Amino acid sequence: MSKIYDVIVIGAGPAGYTACLYASRANLSVLCFEGWQPGGQLTTTTVIENYPGFENGIDGKELMQEMRKQAAVFGTEYITKDVTAIDFAAPTKKVQAGEESYEARVIIIATGAKPRKLGIESEEKLWAKGVSSCATCDGFFFREKKVAVIGGGDSAMEEANFLTKFADKVYLIHRREEFRASKIMLDRVKANEKIEILTNKTVEEVLGEQKVTGLRLKDTQSNETSELELDGMFLAIGHIPVTQLFEGLEKDDQGYLLHKENTMTNMSGVFAAGDCVDHRYRQAVTAAAMGCQAAIDAERWLEGQE
Ligand code: NAP
Repeated sequence: MSKIYDVIVIGAGPAGYTACLYASRANLSVLCFEGWQPGGQLTTTTVIENYPGFENGIDGKELMQEMRKQAAVFGTEYITKDVTAIDFAAPTKKVQAGEESYEARVIIIATGAKPRKLGIESEEKLWAKGVSSCATCDGFFFREKKVAVIGGGDSAMEEANFLTKFADKVYLIHRREEFRASKIMLDRVKANEKIEILTNKTVEEVLGEQKVTGLRLKDTQSNETSELELDGMFLAIGHIPVTQLFEGLEKDDQGYLLHKENTMTNMSGVFAAGDCVDHRYRQAVTAAAMGCQAAIDAERWLEGQE
């Protein structure tokens, strides 16, 4: 018979790794599914300046590698596979990854969120041909070019600033007048001579056949359209939670998992933490904290079952 773990953690961002750390340090056997992007969204960001403990900031990838190693010290096992199906109802929960099946008494879901897209046809057609959602990954290809960043939050500010390391010109295009971004991040953008801010504009079409050549923009106040010549478009318009797989778990209207009691979902023994739950704070430190809470709740729930 295959091993029954105390805890299976699905997801490997700050919430997942912290849940692994706390659960394995509490002497529980822990298996973590790292999925398609071990380390989660922080591996696609630049330096993290607001995770406590790092005076000079820390590289996102490095922070996640350290969290991963720290949980391994206490016995967490990792598996770099995507979960394809789950049976939450069985007395021990069953997790399927392709042909292989795994069992645990508790599941902690920490699958995070993925970048939102505009949802227009030309965006798909030119995806990876000048359209990207990751400046850290693709910025290098736009040396001495013109690019646009879409969005008005902290991510858009961060990406726009980062892209000025490569591009000659960065347009920051936002659909409103007011910005969601924090003042410090917005001020940095405003102070950057390579960035031009265009407000009250939406993207009607990404122009180009084999690669991006420009954008057709619509002014939300005058309804007039205009074309902007450029070589790349970076999306920074928020995220959607990765929860599609979890049928039977209660979610809000945007797909974020809901907690019923502490960090437990409506399914007994199934806990959730991080960006797949939290649409308000979405910080590495808050995700890590919720991963810790989920592990402690899981441990207490397991004790209650004995
Ligand atoms: P966000 O704060 O939700 O901002 C998303 C932006 O995209 C908003 O300006 C929104 O416009 C715009 N948007 C959404 N859908 C759109 C659409 N279909 N078309 C055009 N624009 C659209 O997301 P985020 O910037 O990714 O930030 C998420 C969280 O991470 C925040 O809590 C943020 O503080 C944090 N974060 C922190 C840092 C840092 O401190 N270093 C860096 C990055 C992110 P509206 O404003 O009109 O809704």
